[in-house]
Amino acid sequence: MKIRKGDKIKVLAGKDKGREGVVSRVIPKEGRIIVDRINVARKHQKPTNQTSQGGIIDKDMPFSASNVQIVCAKCGPTRVGYKFSDAGVKSRVCKKCGGDL
Ligand SMILES: [Zn+2]
Repeated sequence: MKIRKGDKIKVLAGKDKGREGVVSRVIPKEGRIIVDRINVARKHQKPTNQTSQGGIIDKDMPFSASNVQIVCAKCGPTRVGYKFSDAGVKSRVCKKCGGDL
């Protein structure tokens, strides 16, 4: 997975196409991510002892990481490349400007 928690992404497909958000969780096993305020499902929750209130709850649902692009601070939505430092440490770079992501 190229995408990590905390990445800023832009949605390429689906009902939230064109929106941008920050990745709050990555599920590598499923190739899916959860992004703040993107792909929100409204859940009707009954009141329980644990959660005091019931009612309608907005929940960010996981969706496929292949439907997003990482947003570079300089160039906007971009593709991700990799580079290795002299010490052999792998890091991610923007394919457009070569800057670190
Ligand atoms: Zn860039």
